[in-house]
Formats: sequence, C-alpha cells, structure tokens
Amino acid sequence: MTAVVDFVPGTAGRAVPTGLLIDGEWRGAADGRTFDVENPATGETIAVVADGGTADADAAIAAAAAAQSSWGRTAPRERGEILRRTFELVMERQDWLAEIMTTEMGKPFAEAKGEVAYAAEYLRWFSEEAVRIDGDAGISTDGRNRVVVTREPIGPCVLVTPWNFPLAMGARKIAPAVAAGCTMVLKPPQQTPLTSLALATILAEAGLPDGVLNIVTTSSAGTVVGRWMSNKNARKVSFTGSTEVGKILLRQAADNVMKASMELGGNAPFIVCADADLDTAVEGAIAAKMRNMGEACTAANRLYVHRSVMEEFSKRLAARMADLRVGNGMESETQVGPLIDDAGRSKVQQLVDDALSRGATAVTGGTMPEGPGYFYPPTVLTNVPADAKLMNEEIFGPVAPVIPFDDEDEMIEVANDTDWGLVGYVFTQDIDRAFDLSERLEVGMVGVNTGIVANPAAPFGGVKQSGLGREGGKVGIDDFLEFKYLTFPRRRGA
Ligand code: NAP
Repeated sequence: MTAVVDFVPGTAGRAVPTGLLIDGEWRGAADGRTFDVENPATGETIAVVADGGTADADAAIAAAAAAQSSWGRTAPRERGEILRRTFELVMERQDWLAEIMTTEMGKPFAEAKGEVAYAAEYLRWFSEEAVRIDGDAGISTDGRNRVVVTREPIGPCVLVTPWNFPLAMGARKIAPAVAAGCTMVLKPPQQTPLTSLALATILAEAGLPDGVLNIVTTSSAGTVVGRWMSNKNARKVSFTGSTEVGKILLRQAADNVMKASMELGGNAPFIVCADADLDTAVEGAIAAKMRNMGEACTAANRLYVHRSVMEEFSKRLAARMADLRVGNGMESETQVGPLIDDAGRSKVQQLVDDALSRGATAVTGGTMPEGPGYFYPPTVLTNVPADAKLMNEEIFGPVAPVIPFDDEDEMIEVANDTDWGLVGYVFTQDIDRAFDLSERLEVGMVGVNTGIVANPAAPFGGVKQSGLGREGGKVGIDDFLEFKYLTFPRRRGA
C-alpha cells in the first residue's frame, strides 16, 4: 500500500509520503495502524502516518542487511555524487522542507530555512568525504611482514533522531553513513516524522538504491528500535536524543556488541566576563538561548555573568527578549514559535515556578498564555538560587536564568558541577582568558564570543553524559567505518 498526502499546498504542492519506506517501497504498517501528527501552533492534526510495529521493523532491517554487500562495494565517487545531488535538491526545495518542518515542529519559517541550509551542508561535506576514506601501510616491527590497513563500512546502522531539528539530525547521520557505504534503518521522531520522509524522497530521486535507507515511523519507539538493537545484522547505533533513552540504547548495544554514537542532552553554561563586549554577549545569549525556542541541546541553560556587568547585561537581555515576537512560525513576523507540546510547555512552567518559589525574579515573561498552541513567552530570571531545579535540568524552553559571579575559579567549579558536558560559551575580550576558561570547561565544544557552535566542518559532540563520538568534521565518518588489517610475509624479510 502506498500512502501519500498532499501536505503542503502553499509551496510546490509536492506530496509528502506518510508510509514506511522498506526496500524502496512506500507501504502502510503491516497491521494497518496509523498515528496522527499535530501542528504545535494550532493543535490541529496535519497528517496521519503509518504506525510501524515488530513485523515492519524486521522487514526494514532485513532489507538493510540484504542491501549492505552491494552498497558497500559501490564506488566512493558514486556515493559522493548521490550526496551531492541530494544537497542540490534539498537546497532547491528549501521552502518546501522548511514549511513541512515549521508545520510539524513549530520553529519560525526563517529558522526552518536556516536548518535546511545547515542540514544540506552536512550532505555536501560528506559528499566530499566519501572519496577521502584512506588506509595505511607499513612494515611489522620485526621486519618480516607487510601491514596493510583498509577501512570498510561498518555495516547496517540503526539511526534514531529527535524532534527538535527534524532535518539536520537525520542528515547528520544519513550523510556519513551513505559516504561510508553503510545501509540504514531510521526511526524518526513520532512528533516530526514528515521531514525525514520528505528527505527520503529526495535521496531516492538523487539515486540512492532501494534498501540502503529504510524508515519505520512508529508510536512504539521502544518496540521498533529494540527489535533492531537485538538483530545480529545491526552493527552500529547512532542516536540523538535524551541521555535517559541514550542509556537504554547503550545497554542494548552492549548485549549485541554494537558500536554506539550518542548525541545526548546538555546543560550549557554561558559565561559573561567583566571585560566582555556586552552587545556581543547579549546577541550571543539571544542566539544560544532563543534558537529553536530554547529547544536545543546546545541551548544556554545557565548564564553566569560577572557581578560588575550583571545589572546592565540583564537589563539589555530582558529588553531584547521582551521584544521578540511570539506566534505561528508560518507568519512572517514571528521570531519565536510554539514549544513542541503541552507536556514540554508544562515542564518549562514548572521549572520557572520552582525558581520563583525559591526567590528568583522574572524580569520578563514567566507566565504561560492561554491556548490554542503551546506558546511560552521569552523569559529572563534573575536572583536564581543554586538549588533551583532548572540549574540542573535541561529547560528546553525560552527561559534564561542569570546568575552573578565574583570569582572565576568558583564559577568554573559550579559550571562543571553537572553530569552533562556538551557545550559552553565564553564572552571576554581577553584572548588568554578565553583560552583558559575554554580549557577548564568540561565540555566537547566552546563558543568564544559567539552563541552558535554547530558547523559541518567541525566535530559536534559532548563529554560526560552528553555523549560518545562526534558528528561532522574530518572525524564524522570514522564512526561508520571499521578497520581491517591485512598482513603479507615479505620475501626478503629481516
Ligand atoms: P528522546 O525522548 O530521547 O527521543 C529521541 C528519539 O528516541 C525519538 O525518536 C524517540 O521516539 C526515540 N525513543 C524514545 N524512547 C525510546 C526507546 N525506549 N528506545 C528507542 N528509542 C526511543 O528525546 P527528544 O525529547 O526527542 O529530544 C530531546 C533531547 O534530545 C534533549 O535531551 C536534547 O538535548 C537532545 N538532543 C541532543 C542533540 C545533540 O546533538 N547532542 C541534538 C538534539 C537534541 P519518539 O519520538 O517516538 O518518542
């Protein structure tokens, strides 16, 4: 059964499939079940998508396993060209993909277009990396053997992605897997499956062979992904999402001895030193806090500001935040869209209420508006005590807690006093201080005088409970490759 829906009449009128993609065929779920996809700006159902189960999961991984051998032997240039064509088609259809994303996820259309361009850059980057997979050659220590090291695709990969960056998180995994010659089973997020399905149509159009990318949308993530994680053909899992689910997958990966890459949660410190340029710091805070309505693993979660500039910084930040226009992401003036759902918004309100009850002050925002839609106002909190829950939890919303500091050493200790370590931000005009603080922060990435770190040319990822492995950059392909070593006796050995 092929299930499609004309989902975006506003742009090209191009149809988005709503089925499962297995071995190049769009199908309904084996048991005919479906689930609804909702627009968080209106609460309306926008599509009905196939709800895959165990039988579909099995069919998908069987297709990936069957396609691996021939796909793994395709010429690197051919794989690179498929990615290059995908990059071009994605950019040609930037508006189409952005509208799908805004409608199922809520982010403002301009931001969604930015995400399309960002995701496309991963496709382009890995189109270039596909032909640069190298090896090594040498002589054994005793001189008797030749040593030849090659790199091969690791094999069928399980990819699991979150709803907050529906296109980029998928592209960041699919692109290196294609470049390396791996086949895949992908489980997109339940709340934003349409973007992944739309991307799959483009990959097929660009020439990706049947069975290389298989997609199972589902409302039973644990069942479908669990099935894959216990399948002996699955050789690697690449997951982006919460630390809690990441730990479940790591346990399952251990049982199947699978390689695992984990892009997990964050609790980013954002540090404004006494000598920072305050205009730069405020704009950096807006970028680091408000990108994606604060629903980003890289979102500034705790803003540590030197006491000497605390009042001025908070005043300027609150003015900028209060000025941001909240609304439906498809309206051109909108700068802040809705949060993903009612549960996400209620969690933000609970964290704000908890901070207020412990003595924090809301300089702007802090109160949930009436529906429809899951909107939350940009909020700045000052006088936030160290024991407020939001100091140790991902807020995942447009709330900026500002905390003063006097002593750099104490501040760094507090900033590092968390299980997470994805990213940190440092604002200072002193290069030596910038390096010193960056080196002392226990994180995988540091933004110095900037609120945005993500970049396809750079290795994205965290330390501690923020993850394992890196996506993007020169090392991004490594997780999808396995070494093989060949040895040959030398005719004239030592
Ligand atoms: P999540 O609840 O962990 O879900 C992520 C994905 O895992 C979804 O596809 C989800 O499916 C699936 N899933 C849920 N339970 C599962 C299970 N038992 N077994 C297998 N898969 C399961 O996270 P989220 O709420 O979507 O995303 C927000 C989190 O992602 C935040 O913590 C954020 O920091 C993190 N994130 C990290 C990065 C990074 O690069 N480090 C980037 C973006 C987001 P359903 O949709 O069906 O629940």
